[in-house]
Amino acid sequence: MPDSRANCARDGVPAQAPRPTDAADVARVVRLLLPLPLAGPLDYLVPDELAVPEAGSFVRVPLGSRRAIGVIWGGVAPDVPVDRLKPLVESLPTPPLEPALRAFIERAAAYNLAPAGAVLRMAMSVEDALLPPRPRRLCAISAAGAAVLHNPDGGTSGDGKLTAARRRVLETLHEQGACAVTEASRLAGCGVGVVRTLIGAGLVDEVLLAGDPPAPPLPRWDTEGPALSRDQQNAADRLLARTQADGFSVTVLDGVTGSGKTETYFAAIASALAAERQVLVLLPEIALSAQWLHRFRRRFGATPVEWHSDVSHAGRRDAWRGVASGRARVVVGARSALFLPFPELGLIIVDEEHDPSFKQEDGVSYQARDMAVLRASIAGIPIVLVSATPSLETVINVARGRYARVALPRRHAEAALPEISLVDMRRERLESGRFLSARLVEAVSTTLAAGEQVLLFLNRRGYAPLTLCRACGFRLQCPSCTAWLVEHRFNGRLMCHHCGYQAPLPALCPECLASGSLVPCGPGVERLKEEVAVRFPAARTALMVSDLLAGPRAAAELADAMVAHRYDVLIGTQIVAKGHHFPMLTLVGVVDADLGLSGGDLRAAERTYQLLHQVAGRAGREQRPGHVLLQTYMPEQPVMRALASGDRDGFLEAEAASRRTAALPPFGRLAALIVSANEPEAADFTAQALARAAPQLPGVSVLGPAPAPLAILRGRHRRRFLVKAERSVNLQAVLRDWVSRVKLSGSTRLQIDVDPYSFL
Ligand code: ADP
Ligand code: ZN
Ligand code: ZN
Repeated sequence: MPDSRANCARDGVPAQAPRPTDAADVARVVRLLLPLPLAGPLDYLVPDELAVPEAGSFVRVPLGSRRAIGVIWGGVAPDVPVDRLKPLVESLPTPPLEPALRAFIERAAAYNLAPAGAVLRMAMSVEDALLPPRPRRLCAISAAGAAVLHNPDGGTSGDGKLTAARRRVLETLHEQGACAVTEASRLAGCGVGVVRTLIGAGLVDEVLLAGDPPAPPLPRWDTEGPALSRDQQNAADRLLARTQADGFSVTVLDGVTGSGKTETYFAAIASALAAERQVLVLLPEIALSAQWLHRFRRRFGATPVEWHSDVSHAGRRDAWRGVASGRARVVVGARSALFLPFPELGLIIVDEEHDPSFKQEDGVSYQARDMAVLRASIAGIPIVLVSATPSLETVINVARGRYARVALPRRHAEAALPEISLVDMRRERLESGRFLSARLVEAVSTTLAAGEQVLLFLNRRGYAPLTLCRACGFRLQCPSCTAWLVEHRFNGRLMCHHCGYQAPLPALCPECLASGSLVPCGPGVERLKEEVAVRFPAARTALMVSDLLAGPRAAAELADAMVAHRYDVLIGTQIVAKGHHFPMLTLVGVVDADLGLSGGDLRAAERTYQLLHQVAGRAGREQRPGHVLLQTYMPEQPVMRALASGDRDGFLEAEAASRRTAALPPFGRLAALIVSANEPEAADFTAQALARAAPQLPGVSVLGPAPAPLAILRGRHRRRFLVKAERSVNLQAVLRDWVSRVKLSGSTRLQIDVDPYSFL
């Protein structure tokens, strides 16, 4: 890794006698932030033949033996003599990073205790987006293709019938304009071969493009959405009053599932577009974005720009350039979209703001919802946080008067909220290997008999979470983590859900060599599907689980099949919980409601409430009333009682009271330090050194070191500290000072997690 000395003149260059730096030279010194985890910016010299680039400009410089692209960062005069600085190579023809984005990068880095360069890297993650576009091949719908697409007789061509996949490709290209073949196939959810066939048939043209692709069609803000109900109109009016006002504001759109929150915030998007501003929408689960995208297209007549890990490299490159140039008006993305270089950002929406996946854990750790609020405050623009079950953090910010709340208390079109009942599993006598209670089985039968649909929810992928030997009790464990291996029967593998390790299921017990002695313990969704097949042989059953779906398009197709009632029972993990709208779904069965309550997570109760409430919200979204059965061994638990009685606010009050007493977030500050090393001794050594240097300050307490619950992860031994501080304490300053006093050596790494959400 290059260090801060990388910029000193290379060995072998004759040392020049230091000379007084003259003012003209100093004016040509620039401070540069590189997208690398360095301690800070580096200084470079602008050679005479180049103009001094303005702050925010992208430039190319030498770094050690290579070249790197960085951003002119401004700052104070250099402390290295001018004649020892390396010269800038060139300025790149990319719009400079706005001051507001540069300030955001610095503040986000400081808050999360990350090097500013590591945060900058997220803002320039597609490096070739910074370079002038190279000519490349795109595909576009041809005149013949457009004619076939618009032929009301279903469209046949010389190549035979227009298949569904081919039609999707033509529709995609018609809506989207020209794009790369890979992007067309991703958007249409088919193989590249389908696009190639259409090219062969002359329905799609290949074009060579020299510059940027033509701007995508602009979303139309002036089209009418559906007529809003009175409640919705009130909410929209109040929301617009906030988002149309100048300056920073946070509004919480708090509405029950199915109340029309999306329609309501679409009104705010339309108004931002009308004001010629760009809009960013953060969505937690990109697997659901297909249904969301479909609604957006219906409302605004165009596709928003997508930003997430499924988008191809070429697609992300175009997205980045489109955002930077202002051609992209609406971006919908995962948390990293927060670091895109919007020049005209006017509104941020965070949908499902309570969702734990907004917290990024690897690399730079940050909470995207909180960072979105920071970005809006620096940019001086409104932000809207949307949820049916807002996080306690957000609820308390409303109570403190920092955020405003706009409520949608009723479901749209008189649909009632589902009735939630608990099934006390302590009274059930289940056969071994069976997980559905008599009451749930009966409810499923009744629902199916009425021609309605059922959702069975179990937040556990695979067949069984644990496999053990009946002969000797041995449990199959990951070779590099403190974790059991999960059997995935559909693809015949054992998998570690922490590191991705895979192995076939052994024929003999690895410990006692008994054969046929390995048995699955506990349920996963795959095993549940088996039970449903036995009990309801006539039911058409589908599994919705991320590892069995080939991407968002497959998830959307499954959702469409549910809407079309091609399935009777849907079994799934948390990806079924969010967003979906299945009109005929009237029964939700939660197989293990207690699953999220174990472990040392301070938000376990809150998360369980949010997740189960959201799953429950899939039932009875239209005319037919919904029912929810929660199977629990803890029916007296406050979460279960709150869910059954629908007393969200009572639950939040109790939760707030207990966190206040324990001085936990949002009433106190929290950070985790995780030391890891290849050898346990090395991890302990550093942990002990940190313990000796631990801050002893009023209002700050340090717990640990202790072996992490995941004591070994990917072969690394892990020790944890938890730092608790009062709200008045500048926790970042305390941590910075603390870790600066301990040196890391060898393979040892220290990870700092401000506001941790995971305690493993
Ligand atoms: P939420 O986001 O609060 O869960 P949605 O915005 O998804 O709610 O609305 C739930 C369902 O009701 C969707 O199918 C949506 O299209 C429909 N809907 C909501 N508001 C209206 C409206 N004003 N007119 C017609 N349909 C609506
Ligand atoms: Zn054995
Ligand atoms: Zn593992």
